Amino acid sequence: MRRQVIAAAMVLLVAGCTSDKAPVKPTPGEPTPGKPTPAAGEPGAAGIGDPYFPTSGNGGYDVGGYDLKLRYDPKTGQLGGAATITATATQDLSSFNLDLSGLTASAVTVDGAPARHAAKGAELVVTPGTAIARTARFTAVVEYAGTPGRLGDGGWLRTPDGGFVLGQPESASAWFPVNDHPADKATFRLAMTVPDGVEAISNGVPGERPSAGGWTTWTWSEAAPLASYLSFVAIGQYRVESGTHNGKPMVIAIPETLPADGPAAKSLGRTAEVADFLATQFGPYPFDAYGGVVLDDERVRYALETQSRPVYGGTFFAGGQNSGVVAHELAHQWFGDSVALERWEDIWLNEGFATYAEWLWAEHQGQTTAQALFDRRYDGFDWAEPPGRPGAEGIFGTPVYERGGMTVHALRRTIGDEAFFGLLKSWPAEHKDGNATTADFIAAAEKAAGGKDLAKFFQDWLYGTAQPPRP
Ligand SMILES: [Zn+2]
Repeated sequence: MRRQVIAAAMVLLVAGCTSDKAPVKPTPGEPTPGKPTPAAGEPGAAGIGDPYFPTSGNGGYDVGGYDLKLRYDPKTGQLGGAATITATATQDLSSFNLDLSGLTASAVTVDGAPARHAAKGAELVVTPGTAIARTARFTAVVEYAGTPGRLGDGGWLRTPDGGFVLGQPESASAWFPVNDHPADKATFRLAMTVPDGVEAISNGVPGERPSAGGWTTWTWSEAAPLASYLSFVAIGQYRVESGTHNGKPMVIAIPETLPADGPAAKSLGRTAEVADFLATQFGPYPFDAYGGVVLDDERVRYALETQSRPVYGGTFFAGGQNSGVVAHELAHQWFGDSVALERWEDIWLNEGFATYAEWLWAEHQGQTTAQALFDRRYDGFDWAEPPGRPGAEGIFGTPVYERGGMTVHALRRTIGDEAFFGLLKSWPAEHKDGNATTADFIAAAEKAAGGKDLAKFFQDWLYGTAQPPRP
C-alpha cells in the first residue's frame, strides 16, 4: 500500500498515542501431539494465529482456490451468488470457520452434502454432516447475499455507478466467505454479473464476457495464489484499455469521470515501462497479467498492490503525473504479492522494498540517487519506532515505509552492490508464490553476503530505538 503522506502522518500520530502491547495469541486448533484425535474431529480455530490480528483468518484448513459466481446490482447495492472453496484439512475437523462480514449465507454444502451453518459476528461456522479427516481435500459451496459494506478503513464502498472493494489488512470477507489472512494464499476466479454497459474489473487474466437478458458477466482468473486482501473488484463506468505486454494481458481501467489523456491515464500508461525496469532489478515479473485501476473517489486516499492489477486513488494524480506510486505498487507484485507476509508484524518486508523501488526508479529516471534519498531521511529521522515491530496500529506508519526503505539501502551499503542486487533477485525467486518472514529474509541476506553475520545490523535497523550507525 502507499498512503498519501498526510494520511501516513495521521496514522503515525495515532500509533504514537496508542500503547504497543502484544495481543494474546489464540489457542491453536491443532490436536495435542501424541494424543489420538477423536474420530469426530475438533472445531477449526476462529483465528489463524497472527499475534497482531488474532481473529483474522481461521485454523484447521488450507484453501487451494476460490471460485466466485456473483451478481451485483448498482441500483440496489445488492450482491449475491455462490462461492466455491476448495481446501485441504490440516486437522480432523468437526467444523470450520470462514470469515464473512455483513452478508448472509443461505445454504452451505461440503462435498455436495448439506452442511449446518451459523453466523457468529464476522465468522461463518460450517459444520459438515461428517467430520473431515486431516489431509482430506474438500469443497465447500456457500450461497450468500446481502448489501456489502465497510470493513475497517476499507471493505465494500458503494458508488453512484457501482462499487468497489479494497482494503488492507483485510477486505475480502466484506464480499466473499474466505480464510482472510495472507498466510493462506489461494487461486482466485471471479464471474461478476452486472448490468449491460457497466464494467467489472478484477485481478488476473480476463476471460469470456457473455451477455444475456440485459446482464453481462465479466470473468477474471488469477492462477498464482493470492493473499485474500489482494483480491478486488471495481464496478462502474470505466474506460477499459486492453492489450498485451510481454505476451501477457494488460488491462488498465480509468473512471469515465477522469480525462482519457489526463495525468492518471498517463501515469498508468507507464505500467509496462515501470514493470520492465523493476524486472531488471527483481527478476522476471511474477504474474500472468499486468494492469491497473484508478478510483475517482475521495474516500480512497491510498493505492493498493491488488495482485497483477494495482488500484490507485485518483488523489495521487491530482498534482500531475506520478510514476513513483506506479513503481511502488508494481514493486509490491514481487515484494508483498508473490512473496507474501506470513504475519503482519513483518510488513516492512513489503513496504521497505516498495519504498526502495521508488528510489531506484527515481535514480533510473535521472532525478536523484538512492543515496541522496537515504541521506535526506537519515539526518533528523525519529528513530523511536522500530519498523520490525510496529505494533498492530503501526503497520502503516512512517517507520515501516521510510525506515524500512533506509534499512534496505543500509543493507546494500553493508553487503555491497553485488551481493545486494543478487539478493533482490534470489529472494523473490526462492519464495515465489509463497509466504516469508523477517527471519527468512535475514537468513537469505546472510547467505547472499557469503555467510556474514548480520544479526547486529538487523537488530539496529529493524528493532532498535536509536539512530543506527551511518552505513
Ligand atoms: Zn506499499
